Amino acid sequence: MTAAIPTTSRSIAVRPDQPGKVHYTSVPLPDPEPQDVVVKVIRVGVCGTDREIIHGLLGTPPDGSDELVIGHEVLGRVVTTGYAVTDLKSGDLVSATVRRPDGCPACQAGQPDMCLWREYEERGIAGQHGFMTEYFVESRKFIVPVPDALEHVGVLIEPLTVVEKAVRQADLIQQRMAYWNLETAVVLGAGPIGMLGSLLLRSRDIDVTTVARTPKPNPAASIIEASGASYVSTEVESLHELHQRLDNIDLILESTGASSLAFDAMTMLGTNGVLVLLSLTGGDGTAEVPTAQINTGLVAGNKTVVGSVNAGIEDFTNAVDHLGRFEELWPGLLERMFTDRIPFDAALGSIAAKADQGIKTLIEFS
Ligand code: BGC
Repeated sequence: MTAAIPTTSRSIAVRPDQPGKVHYTSVPLPDPEPQDVVVKVIRVGVCGTDREIIHGLLGTPPDGSDELVIGHEVLGRVVTTGYAVTDLKSGDLVSATVRRPDGCPACQAGQPDMCLWREYEERGIAGQHGFMTEYFVESRKFIVPVPDALEHVGVLIEPLTVVEKAVRQADLIQQRMAYWNLETAVVLGAGPIGMLGSLLLRSRDIDVTTVARTPKPNPAASIIEASGASYVSTEVESLHELHQRLDNIDLILESTGASSLAFDAMTMLGTNGVLVLLSLTGGDGTAEVPTAQINTGLVAGNKTVVGSVNAGIEDFTNAVDHLGRFEELWPGLLERMFTDRIPFDAALGSIAAKADQGIKTLIEFS
């Protein structure tokens, strides 16, 4: 297959020594190898990790570079492929995984999201340029085909994979029991991850309560409630009150970004329950914690607490299927998450901070 491939790609990047700033740059586009796919980006989502990178809290440029192109939530179309790629063609809609393996046994076994050595690279985050760029080149094995019918929402595949993995982990862990019926779930946090987690659990008809600080009405609460989940503001009902009111909480997803909430969640978790922690919390926060109560509760109630980061390739294929399912169940609901759409050429001023009550910012490439 042949098509004109540019040699450089206009991109948005950060310099670790200039926290708070983003800039336009142009990065060379490598010549595609036989197994590579060249992708023209349609749009990229901005998440909390991108904002932490912009503010200098994390993020590592590729070796030899003083800047990092950001962006890891991508949707694009194939421009061309190397000759060894036979199952994709020009024009196909695609997304891409984020993490690239190191030599550890878990990575070599095909699970870079479970990397042991933690010397992996992540596009747009650690050691490799990201997708906030007009074009990128990537090996076919990290490319995720997306049906055309999902063009309008496919940029949500990557954030959805985070909760796909979380719930898959919970399902796997709970195979420890002859009987587990996931009836009642609590999602802590109503950002995009909490929201997508709520939708994923609601698509399985689970009784979901999503908890956040901001009282209703607000755009996040209305999306969550449209899926049939309940939205609780902690300004109206405390976590303790909620815990008293709900039945045995079988599953908690923690996605607030506040580390102390992980310990509150441990006290709320029901017998035989599983708590999946999803917030990467920088800084050095400390808190007083009821250790005896938490410990006894976990032991006597056979409870499980697990951390989950990144996602496996099966989480990407499941996310593609489930986005389609969400569209069937709640037509138009996902698009209500896109509160800010910014053209690439006007993006610099609007990436670093989230708009008040904003949910998901998208950078649109023409
Ligand atoms: C991304 C993950 C990544 C994690 C840590 C998240 O925002 O969605 O893919 O592993 O950040 O870098």
